[in-house]
Amino acid sequence: MSFEKLGVIKPLLNAIKDLGYEKPTVIQTRAIPLVLAKSDIFATAQTGTGKTAAFGLPMLQRLRKTSADQNRVLRGIILSPTRELSLQIYDDLQKYAKNMTLNIAVLVGGKDLETQQRLLKEGVDIIIATPGRIIEHVGKGLDTSHVEIFVLDEADRMLDMGFVKEIKTIYPLLPKRHQTLLFSATYSDKVRKLSKLILTKPAFIEA
Ligand code: AMP
Repeated sequence: MSFEKLGVIKPLLNAIKDLGYEKPTVIQTRAIPLVLAKSDIFATAQTGTGKTAAFGLPMLQRLRKTSADQNRVLRGIILSPTRELSLQIYDDLQKYAKNMTLNIAVLVGGKDLETQQRLLKEGVDIIIATPGRIIEHVGKGLDTSHVEIFVLDEADRMLDMGFVKEIKTIYPLLPKRHQTLLFSATYSDKVRKLSKLILTKPAFIEA
């Protein structure tokens, strides 16, 4: 299999080639076509399987814009349990998106809320955030009504850390028609229960 055969576009192909990715991993081979086809996904995958690119590449592709398009509206949210993981996802996505005109921001605790708000005012296309911090921004007026793709990474860990309330708060604020991608290391009862609430006819993937 090749990234090209999976339907990945040139700007992304060039970026991952520079990173030395030669062929897609198992989870990437399964997830990329489904995400491009706008399907909801329930994926069980451990760290190290290439799961970040499995949701990141097709997400960037779906949300791509022409360089003339200056309109910056929040269209993608990635939630992750910790500051460290959020920063890691941000780093990876910035590398994948280097040939694209997308503004990506990371919102984690420990950084000044006002500085983050100024950044949001300038306009971002994609946010990577911890659940607690995004709720704070929603409380201050962050508009989530144009979100097309909602990703939960390490959903089991988020639930174990007690973030179910935050997830349930954000979810109804998204437009009815959107795509949700749920990634979890385990297939626990808690995750299954959440998946029933937030996924519509999901494709199941195991890496
Ligand atoms: P992840 O599971 O997303 O944490 O990725 C684990 C590591 O694999 C990261 O360092 C990625 O940069 C790398 N990686 C992801 N996809 C590929 C690929 N197709 N080929 C080679 N390395 C990859």
